[in-house]
Amino acid sequence: MSINVPSCGGKDMSMKDIRLEQADPCDLEGLREAIRDNDKEQKTCPIEMDRIIIQNRAIERLPEIINEFAKGDKKKVLLVSDATSPYLRGSKSVKEEIYFLLSRSFDVNWFVFDNHDHVLHADDEESKKLEERIKAFDPEIVVGIGGGTVTDICKYSTYQVDQKETPLVIVQTALSVNAFSDGISIMIKNGVKDSIETRYPNVLIIDLDVIEKAPVERNLAGYGDCLSTLTGPLDWYMANALNMNHSYTDIAVDIMHKQDLQLLEASARLAQKDQEALRLLARVLTISGLAMGIAGESCPSSGSEHIMTHLLDMCADIQNRDVAFHGAQVAVGTVFATIAWDILLEEFEPKSVDIDACFPTEEEMKPIVHEAFSWISEQAAEECFSRYQKKLALWREQKETLKAFLENWDTFRTEIKERFVKPEYLVKQMHEAGCPTHYAQMTPMIDKATGRWAVQCCHLYRNRFTLIDFLYYIGWWNDEFVERVMERAGALDAGL
Ligand SMILES: [Zn+2]
Repeated sequence: MSINVPSCGGKDMSMKDIRLEQADPCDLEGLREAIRDNDKEQKTCPIEMDRIIIQNRAIERLPEIINEFAKGDKKKVLLVSDATSPYLRGSKSVKEEIYFLLSRSFDVNWFVFDNHDHVLHADDEESKKLEERIKAFDPEIVVGIGGGTVTDICKYSTYQVDQKETPLVIVQTALSVNAFSDGISIMIKNGVKDSIETRYPNVLIIDLDVIEKAPVERNLAGYGDCLSTLTGPLDWYMANALNMNHSYTDIAVDIMHKQDLQLLEASARLAQKDQEALRLLARVLTISGLAMGIAGESCPSSGSEHIMTHLLDMCADIQNRDVAFHGAQVAVGTVFATIAWDILLEEFEPKSVDIDACFPTEEEMKPIVHEAFSWISEQAAEECFSRYQKKLALWREQKETLKAFLENWDTFRTEIKERFVKPEYLVKQMHEAGCPTHYAQMTPMIDKATGRWAVQCCHLYRNRFTLIDFLYYIGWWNDEFVERVMERAGALDAGL
């Protein structure tokens, strides 16, 4: 069996299609054409969106857009938002402004998630409430206003009710996550977060005047979520090379990579709320969402850094704390992941691997997974193990693949290094952006023991192969190695 290395994985950047590297999310037709021309293996999923609008005063275009999509005579619009204090624009909140704007021409019903005293979660309880309202009001179009969670529930609930029948417009009120421009919802099932294929919004509206008014930590969280596109694709590429994932396509990475680096370069300007830097952030976030949509799964911007974040969220309830901003946690996770990658790239000697020792049995792993999660609940531990089992079973078939991978290590290493950003540069730019670099700086803060647990146990959580799985199976990912990662992060003024 030969190792499954995809073509031109970053080998020759000069050969990249400039239309992909400069992908403009507001020009979906142009992007589709560039993808079509480059998708020789036909691995990409279609972008099922009609329009993305990123501009000043974009919400004023809502009536025109609704008229275009709401085909019935009743003009029934269901507005969906959460109950957080809205950002002010003039004397009205953005949500009220939209409500009054639409009420002039449409029959508007406003559904508000009741989350006055807690953080809204994308779970069955909340999605059912919205589904009931959709069925009762029977709208011709749903307009969701808010952040990632509201968007995830809107995508999920409308999909549950009638798949993609009812048009969905999303008005993004902060650049907090990249969950807007894809057909995936991150939902909590049995206490565990999972990405579920749902639907795209038909239209995504990012009003830069609204974004500018959003709390700075929310936009910085979006910047943090974007950082995962520096490590997620590396994990994805490795999983593909080890036959643990077959969705990898260069196209999804190419549309993000160059603009990610531009965003990193613009970090200091972001801290100054520079309009062009915010526009770039909006663009990069949206593109990373599209990359996930093209891949048909979240891998292009979700590797081990995201799994660490999911673990932190999973134990929030039992620790009696709200979840911190997703992207803020992701940013810190990206620092850990980058350091782990750096150590591997600099020190790994493939000949030192004892291949026979790389494939633990289910009996060996079950108590380890249970030990990692049963302090949260037996149900969570069971759920994690049932997912982990699938990964382990597939991994146990890869002995020959691993052999070939180790023989080809130098090629793989060169390809990864083409896209690799060093932890020193990453953390320096994060500091310039004003982005928190420690778990202890989250709101609410995450204590050292919890942070360390999330990093250490992330590979046991789900059926997604990342760098940390590889490090674990080759015998590197142990207390000592994790400590080394923590110390290196600490030396950069980052980490726990
Ligand atoms: Zn994310």
